[in-house]
Amino acid sequence: MLKVENITKYYGENLAVDHLSFTVKSGEIFGLLGSNGAGKTTTFRIIMGLLDSNSGTVTLDGKKIDYSVTDHIGFVTEERSLLTKMTVEEQVIYYGRLKGLKEEEIRKRLDEWLEKFQIKDYKKRKIKELSKGNQQKIQFIAAVINEPKLLILDEPFTGLDPINVGQLKDAIYELQKKGCSIIFSSHQMEHIEQFCEKLLILVKGRPVLEGYLKDIKEEYQKKNIMIRGDIDPQELQAIPGVLGVHKKANEYEVKIESNKVVEKVFKKISHKNITKFVVEEPSLNEIFIAKVGESYDE
Ligand code: ATP
Repeated sequence: MLKVENITKYYGENLAVDHLSFTVKSGEIFGLLGSNGAGKTTTFRIIMGLLDSNSGTVTLDGKKIDYSVTDHIGFVTEERSLLTKMTVEEQVIYYGRLKGLKEEEIRKRLDEWLEKFQIKDYKKRKIKELSKGNQQKIQFIAAVINEPKLLILDEPFTGLDPINVGQLKDAIYELQKKGCSIIFSSHQMEHIEQFCEKLLILVKGRPVLEGYLKDIKEEYQKKNIMIRGDIDPQELQAIPGVLGVHKKANEYEVKIESNKVVEKVFKKISHKNITKFVVEEPSLNEIFIAKVGESYDE
């Protein structure tokens, strides 16, 4: 289990992370979200032992971060950290040896991964000759070759087509099943929604929302009603508690303040010709924008 307790980081006068705490259990996928400059990269660097915090502690399975612990952490970032003149094989062997693995074991695991990602033919190719998407896959393989206890994924899907996104997701689920703790960061909320049971939103280094996605959605009062049929949007807009009515393709999205407004909307249109009336949870995207916006207004 990864335990981040009360970490604070200043760059000079600039407070980048402000008393941040969270835990990621074994086999859990945790989403760390935040707007640009919120403090995610700084937090990752502290977890990986690349940067010292001013206060607070980070432990993995009860041990403070040092070299013996960082050998059990894998990191995939958007900026590719590959040595592009090396071949795929040389690269992965190099990283595996750095993490203390024997060459024979690395070769065996590499073959399995290349097979899984359907890129067996690239083993002897130089990294610089590979497409961006395939370089991303190699970076992933290099990060997980030591079967890490903790895997940090910072925008891992950037530049990947949908088929490759699917392959990488399957690989991540496989690691999760083996008990790896995974921290996932992305600005693409649909990935977070699909992937993370638990999440934390950072604004200016401070958490503004934290918990299980299911609970966050339930607690967030605002809902959307999707209606298809013959309605008058202005009539609905006039109902107290209706925040907006928007046409989306062949239906209307009625944004409401809380569940209490559902009945009022229903009464207003129940005598009309309606073929769909569905109350939906808001998307994580909407919640993110609302929460981050609120915090900036404070
Ligand atoms: P993004 O989503 O844009 O990658 P982030 O959430 O990863 O952003 P950080 O890179 O951790 O955010 O930055 C947090 C704050 O710390 C920002 O105000 C940033 O300007 C500042 N900062 C980051 N790195 C340094 C540095 N090396 N020296 C000084 N200030 C820094």
